[in-house]
Amino acid sequence: QTLLVTLGVFAVLIFGQDGSNAPKQRHAYQSDVARLRKIVINSLYSHRDVFLRELISNANDALEKLRLTSLTEPQVLSGAENMNITIKVEKDEQGNGRIIIRDTGIGMTPEELSTNLGTLAKSGTSEFLSRAESDTTGNGNLIGAFGLGFYSSFLVADRVEVASVAAKSSNNPNPAQYVFSSGADENSFEIFPDPRGNTLGRGTEITLHLKPDALEYGDTNTIIDLVNKHSSFSTSFPIYLYTTR
Ligand code: ADP
Ligand code: MG
Repeated sequence: QTLLVTLGVFAVLIFGQDGSNAPKQRHAYQSDVARLRKIVINSLYSHRDVFLRELISNANDALEKLRLTSLTEPQVLSGAENMNITIKVEKDEQGNGRIIIRDTGIGMTPEELSTNLGTLAKSGTSEFLSRAESDTTGNGNLIGAFGLGFYSSFLVADRVEVASVAAKSSNNPNPAQYVFSSGADENSFEIFPDPRGNTLGRGTEITLHLKPDALEYGDTNTIIDLVNKHSSFSTSFPIYLYTTR
């Protein structure tokens, strides 16, 4: 898998600039999710690196799902031309850092954002949670046995925004872009129409607002190293990285 480093210029992030009128729905996390998030945030500090591998693996899964679905429903391919993953790292003058991971995969409807990111559907989750809660070693032995998934974002981010447009299909004839937004210490999340409109065409864009003590991840070279270390042979789709010079 090639890692293509593209020299580019940052796009201005306009998140939330004119969305004050958009209806926002606040949902409480399912109780297992609240427990899992607490474990992730509190006890896996020394394994923070895994967040990128988890998000890239989700992006790859979403692209794989799109490819499979397209065999029987070619219209899912409309909306965005390519099948790839792009990563962008941004720093602003106030010293805030962001990582933006985008894929042109199957995407999520607002209902799927809520179900997939707000509940835990996996079997064995409760058992895992009990074991993890009583694991006082804090060395993350259980990580290998149980993928931490999306919630590992909160290891490095104090706020995570997921914008998504589900692929067009007979069930989803008019895809719209919605946002899932949650803070690391909130017990709830919000779902709302993206004030930017449909900027993705298809797929998912995850914006990690880095914690002050995780700004090292807002560095392009760190990201290149992490991708090479954890994800370079495990994705079937190209990963592009935007950088500035
Ligand atoms: P897992 O990947 O093991 O199912 P995760 O916590 O990593 O668990 O992700 C939860 C779910 O959220 C996924 O199963 C998928 O349905 C959805 N999801 C996460 N990231 C994406 C993405 N980039 N595109 C589409 N769906 C996603
Ligand atoms: Mg996953």
